[in-house]
Amino acid sequence: MKRRSFIKKSSVSGLALALAPSLMVAKDREFEFSVLELMGKADIELFGKGINLRKEAHDSFLAMKKAAYSDGIDLKIVSSYRSFDRQELIWERKYIKYTEDQGMNPLDAIEKIITYSTIPGTSRHHWGTDIDVIDGYRKTNGDVLVPEKFEAGGPFEDFKKWMDGNSEKFDFHLVYTKDPKRRGFKYEPWHYSYAPISIPMLTAYRRLNLVQLMRDETYYGSEHFTSRFIKNYFQNNILDINTALL
Ligand SMILES: [Zn+2]
Repeated sequence: MKRRSFIKKSSVSGLALALAPSLMVAKDREFEFSVLELMGKADIELFGKGINLRKEAHDSFLAMKKAAYSDGIDLKIVSSYRSFDRQELIWERKYIKYTEDQGMNPLDAIEKIITYSTIPGTSRHHWGTDIDVIDGYRKTNGDVLVPEKFEAGGPFEDFKKWMDGNSEKFDFHLVYTKDPKRRGFKYEPWHYSYAPISIPMLTAYRRLNLVQLMRDETYYGSEHFTSRFIKNYFQNNILDINTALL
């Protein structure tokens, strides 16, 4: 994360603000994030083997992991930072599978992909603040990121209870909550975000012209994005999250 000396907001002219990548001042700290950084296209500094988070998020995760250990839970990261290129690979693989192998029409394929996967350039995993996490002590067959496995009787029931009671002490919040009124991505009991950095990042992200940025992309399926689709996706999938993270 780039940090610069404090600039008074009032001293920055409108023109300078328009030219600045994505500038915001939060409380007593200043954050500045570039468009490339917000879209997973920048080479950001990440910390911790198998952790791969920004420094502060990494430190807080380690403190949380230590606390969880003493309660018999091994917080194990399944996924953290993911670059644009990696997300593009995931996206295109699914797009090709649904459209070419299964013969779905492109718009249906896109709708299907975005129930769980993000459009490249729009993943919170691009930010180095978000993690998919489970209890490494529990052995389970097949996919681990399955909501039922976090329910009563599932292998990650104790993990979920522990996180419900403790994660916020370490500033990690669930992003895609179980609220039935929430739109966008489905309930993900494994996906947590380090709020002190991800909140300012989302604020900066909201200032991007996502319609233009998405239209400039050239991966499979992107030619089918309409501005209406992108606006709906932004409202539902990016902004309809745990309100503690807005
Ligand atoms: Zn995730």
